[in-house]
Amino acid sequence: MTIALDQLPAEAQDAVARTREHVSDLHAELPRNQLVVWTAGNVSERVPGADLFVIKPSGVSYDELSPDVMVVCTLDGEKIDDGTPARLTPSSDTAAHAYVYRNMSEVGGVVHTHSTYATAWAARGEEIPCVLTMMGDEFGGPIPVGPFAIIGDDSIGRGIVETLKHSRSRAVLMQNHGPFTIGKDARDAVKAAVMCEEVARTVHVARQLGDPIAIPEPIIDSLFERYQNVYGQGASSSGADVADSPAQVVDAADPLAPDADAAGTDTTPPSASASTP
Ligand SMILES: [Zn+2]
Repeated sequence: MTIALDQLPAEAQDAVARTREHVSDLHAELPRNQLVVWTAGNVSERVPGADLFVIKPSGVSYDELSPDVMVVCTLDGEKIDDGTPARLTPSSDTAAHAYVYRNMSEVGGVVHTHSTYATAWAARGEEIPCVLTMMGDEFGGPIPVGPFAIIGDDSIGRGIVETLKHSRSRAVLMQNHGPFTIGKDARDAVKAAVMCEEVARTVHVARQLGDPIAIPEPIIDSLFERYQNVYGQGASSSGADVADSPAQVVDAADPLAPDADAAGTDTTPPSASASTP
C-alpha cells in the first residue's frame, strides 16, 4: 500500500514540508559551486521523525526546482503519494541514497555529483591523500575510493556504505563515477561535496610541480578531533584549549575555513614553516 503524505500525522507533514524546503534550497548550491552540469547531481535529506527522505526529481533542470516538486520516498527508495505528478520520478540515484539511510542511521543527508576534479581522481581509482590541513579538519584523512558499481541495484549504495564505514571521511570517490558525500543533514553533506571538490582540485594542482608533503597521522588526528569537537560549536577564537591538544597547534584565523566565524586551526607539518597569527 502506498503511503499518502496527506494521511500522515500533522507533525510528519510539517517535517516533510521543511525538509522539501532545505533540499530545494540546497540544490542551488550545486551549480553555484560549479559541482554539476545540466541535470546531473542530487541532494537528499532524511525527514526527522519519519522513515522517509526527500530527493530531487529525475531529469528536472536546476532552474525549475522548488520545494513542491521535491519527491518524498520511503527508506526503500519508493516514492510515496506525495502530491507531485506521477511523471516526477525520484532521481535515478535514489536506490543508492536509500541504501545509505537504511544502513547508516547517523546519516541525515546524502549528496552525489560528478564534480570535475573529484571525478578525475575517481577515474584513476586513486584516493586523495591527506596533504592539506583542511582535509584533516573536514575528512580526518584521505578521501577513499569506493568500488566500481553500476546503477540498477544496491551495489552503489553498498559500495558507499562499506567504504565509509571504515573511514572518517564523509566523502567517497566511487571508481570511474564520482563523489558521494554524507552528513548529519543535507547541508553538511553539501558542504562535504564542496570541500571534496576543493581539495581534489588543490591536491591535483600541487601534484603538477612535485610531491605533496604528507601530514603525519597523529597531527591529522588532532586536527580532526579539534575541528569536529571544538571548532564551529561556539568555541571562542582565543584557542583556550590549544594546550590540551597533543600536537603543536598554532592558532590562526583561516580565511578559507568554511563558515569561518571563529579562528581555525593550523598545524604545521614537519618541513613547513609555522604560520603566525
Ligand atoms: Zn552519478
